[in-house]
Amino acid sequence: MKVTDILGIREQNIASIINAVRFKSGISKKQIAEETELSVATVSNLCNDLAARNILIESKNDGLSVGRTPSVYTFNVERYCVLAINLQLRNVMYLAITNFRNEIILEKEYKYSDNAGVEEIMHEARVHYEEDLKPGLRDDAVIIGVGVAVSAIYDTSHSKLVCCAIPVFEEKDLKKITEKEFGLTAYIDNEANLCAIAANASEAEYEDIVYIHASEGVGTGIIQHGRLLQGHNGYAGEISHMPIGRPDRKCKVCGRYGCIESDLSIDGFLLSYFGNNRGKREERWKEFLEAVEAKKEKALKVTEETGTYLGRLVSVLIYLFDPQVVYIGGNIPVLYPYMKESMMKEVRGRCVLWDENSIAKILPDLTSNERIIIGISERICSKWLPY
Ligand SMILES: [Zn+2]
Repeated sequence: MKVTDILGIREQNIASIINAVRFKSGISKKQIAEETELSVATVSNLCNDLAARNILIESKNDGLSVGRTPSVYTFNVERYCVLAINLQLRNVMYLAITNFRNEIILEKEYKYSDNAGVEEIMHEARVHYEEDLKPGLRDDAVIIGVGVAVSAIYDTSHSKLVCCAIPVFEEKDLKKITEKEFGLTAYIDNEANLCAIAANASEAEYEDIVYIHASEGVGTGIIQHGRLLQGHNGYAGEISHMPIGRPDRKCKVCGRYGCIESDLSIDGFLLSYFGNNRGKREERWKEFLEAVEAKKEKALKVTEETGTYLGRLVSVLIYLFDPQVVYIGGNIPVLYPYMKESMMKEVRGRCVLWDENSIAKILPDLTSNERIIIGISERICSKWLPY
C-alpha cells in the first residue's frame, strides 16, 4: 500500500469522526465508534489527536458514579467558522459568518455599484469582512473556508461561471478570484444547489429533494439519496431553457421561445404584468406584489397563468427524480397562495403514477436566503479536513 493511500484512509476517518460529533455535545469514543463504524482503537487515537489540537473539547461525563469516568467529546463549534457571501441579487452583497453547526453568528448586508468588476466586488467583500465582521469573532476563531452564492452555473470542468443572471460574473473564474482575495479555499455554487444542500442538512427525514429557486434566474438543486446531483460539468438541474413556458415569449438569453425562466424569474413576472421590462425593477416588483395582494384582476391572472407553468416544471421534476419533497424558494413563495390552485391542477393532471400519499410534498419556502448561507456552511464544514 502506498503512503498516500494510508493518508487517505486517515483523512477519511478524521472526516467521519468530525461529522459524527459536529451536531452533538458530549459524545463518548464508544458512541463515535458505533456511529462511524470505525474501531474503538482508531477512534481513540484520532480523538486524542483532535483534542490535543483543540478541535475537540474533552470533558468528563459525571453521570456515572461507578468505576473510571469516561471522557466525552464536543466539537469546538464556535472556533471553526465559515464566511458566506451571497451575491445572487443584483448590487447586493450579503455577508455572514456561521459556526461549525451552520448557525449564523454574524451578518450584514451591503450594496455595491453597477460599474464594479468581479475583482472589485470581492475586494469590497474582504474589506467589509475585515472591518465589520472579523472584530466580532473570538480571538482564536479560524475561518476554514469562504463560500460564494451566485445566480449562475459553476462550470466545474472549466472553473468558470456560465449562464449568469448578473452579466458581470459571466465567464469569470470566481473561485480563483475569491481564493486570491481571501487567501482561503473557496467554494462557489448557485442558490438552488445551496438551498437543496441546506434542506438536506436541516430536514433529516428528506433524502430525495428538489429545490426550485426562482429570483433573478430559475434553477433547481437536486438531492438524490442524500447527495447533490451535479452532472459531468456541474450543469445538472439547470432547467432555465426547458421549453415548457409561455410559447410566444422569446428568451433573451438563448433567443428561442417558451423557456421556463422567461416566466418564473422576476423579469418574467414583470413582463407579464407590465407588458415590458422598463423602469426600476425593485419598485415595479413591489408594485406588482401590492397589486396581487389587493387582488387586482390582471395581477391575479398573471400569477394564475404562471402557476400553470410552475406546475409543468414541478411535474417534469417529479417524473425525473421522484422526490419526497419539492421546495419552492427565492422570490416566488410570497406568490404561492395565488399560484397554488393552477399549479396543483397541472401537477395532479400530469403526475398520473402517484396518488395523494406517494406524490412529493410541495412546500413554499420563505427562508431561501438563510438556506443559502446554511448550504455554504454545510458544504464547507462537511468536507473540511483540519490537517
Ligand atoms: Zn432560453
